[in-house]
Amino acid sequence: MNFQTPYYLIDETKLLRNMEKIKLVRDISGAKSLLALKCFATWSVFDLMSEYMDGTTSSSLFEAKLGAEKFGKEVHAYSVAFSASDVEEMNAFSDKFIFNSISQLNAFYGIVKDKKIGLRVNPGFSYSHFDLADPARKCSKLGASDIKEVMKISGMISGAMFHYNCENDDFKTFSNMLDRLGRDYAPLLKKLEWVSLGGGLYFTKENYPIQDFARKLKEFSDKHKVQVYLEPGETAITNSAELVVTVLDLIKHDADIAVVDASVEAHMLDLLIYRTQAKMELSGKGKFPYVVSGKSCLAGDIFGTFKFDKKLKVGDTLKFSDAAGYTMVKKNWFNGLQMPSIVVKRLNGKTELVRSFTYNDFKNNLS
Ligand SMILES: *Cc1c(COP(=O)(O)O)cnc(C)c1O
Repeated sequence: MNFQTPYYLIDETKLLRNMEKIKLVRDISGAKSLLALKCFATWSVFDLMSEYMDGTTSSSLFEAKLGAEKFGKEVHAYSVAFSASDVEEMNAFSDKFIFNSISQLNAFYGIVKDKKIGLRVNPGFSYSHFDLADPARKCSKLGASDIKEVMKISGMISGAMFHYNCENDDFKTFSNMLDRLGRDYAPLLKKLEWVSLGGGLYFTKENYPIQDFARKLKEFSDKHKVQVYLEPGETAITNSAELVVTVLDLIKHDADIAVVDASVEAHMLDLLIYRTQAKMELSGKGKFPYVVSGKSCLAGDIFGTFKFDKKLKVGDTLKFSDAAGYTMVKKNWFNGLQMPSIVVKRLNGKTELVRSFTYNDFKNNLS
């Protein structure tokens, strides 16, 4: 069971905890959950996930295709902008089309009119700590924002998608915003059969009032007579994987620095984008602080500063936790670094290498 580092280690037992919470929400509220593939598309564990979730939602033709091929169940096709050929191809395997704008709805209505059709609506409010991920930011391209215009085309759609949360772990604000959505959009909701509340709701977090959350969804669904959908990405897979690395070198320069055989830029890019630290379970209170750095050429390629119980040695293994979401889907070949393999610890305790990458993968990624 010794795999060569670096590798992502997905633990199905940890994943199952999230899946059971998703199922609980469905059982209480009737809300269906679709996995947002942009966050996590490691299909080796889809057999497990698809027992607990109702399908997938996508950002593109390729994601929708992967959802249909590897996850099954409902396939929601969404994209910020479809091309005509995207729509033609996706029509063969998608159950629903959600258009991001009224112009796209009008452009492709003729092709998809036999499918369930929805429109993304931008409610003008949001919950997000990051401007980059805030759908209600200035000049946002995300969703139709003029309710008068939306009402004019409401006969063409059976549903709407409101995705306006990012890492929202605060039930109170969720609840208040859902009430506001219900008030602001009551006339539209009256005409709809289904509403997707998007992703960004951190309801699998420990101590989150998940029962209240589910009851709130049920209240919304009953009041407006709509089937509610959720599109969990991060919350579906949170805390279910680690990035396992090896210390390659120890350097002293203002601090003790440990260089490891992976890279933030290439393997956990969101830490750089959102300027956050990696997490490590077995560190924090020790006496030996180290700046743990990635091995790319970027000086700022740093996983974080961690305090260890003892001095690190070359060859030590370190594990960054919470490494499932927005990692494997974003990994890249920057610096030609060894791409971490993907290892899955199955429910029965067996650990298997499901994918490894070679020089040829690097070479064939370009020409
Ligand atoms: C990003 C996104 C999701 C998933 O978001 P998470 O924060 O990972 O839960 C769901 N739906 C849409 C439309 C998105 O853009």
